[in-house]
Amino acid sequence: MEVRNCKSCGRLYNVLGRERICPACKALQEDKFQQVKRFLNENPNSSVEVVAKENDVSTKQIRQWVREERLILSSGIIDGITCETCGAPIITGRYCERCKAELSQSFENALDRPRTIKPEVKKLERDGNRMRFLRNDEI
Ligand SMILES: [Zn+2]
Ligand SMILES: [Zn+2]
Repeated sequence: MEVRNCKSCGRLYNVLGRERICPACKALQEDKFQQVKRFLNENPNSSVEVVAKENDVSTKQIRQWVREERLILSSGIIDGITCETCGAPIITGRYCERCKAELSQSFENALDRPRTIKPEVKKLERDGNRMRFLRNDEI
């Protein structure tokens, strides 16, 4: 097992995944994340700077959460989160809707995977009908 210094508190810890901080700091960060998420729900038009100040989190951390699509900013505020491809203002993730659509399109073309989803849905519908019949019989 690999041992590393926590990027946040400096303590040594056992590295399990790709984390760069120790489990204790990760738990703290998760608490902060929930706090920020709640704050954004209650104050949807706050700027990143205000959210950072009110919750005692760095703007860098907030931007990182936005990039990871864990946080979605209100569309009413634009402060520095931009599409990595064209630079358009965005509220979450790394790319704007247009670039994302273009990216996923070229991604799908490259994959050309077999479509196995439809039969699955049909089967569920059939089972659902049978369930309904059974229930009618019982009455
Ligand atoms: Zn730590
Ligand atoms: Zn873009």
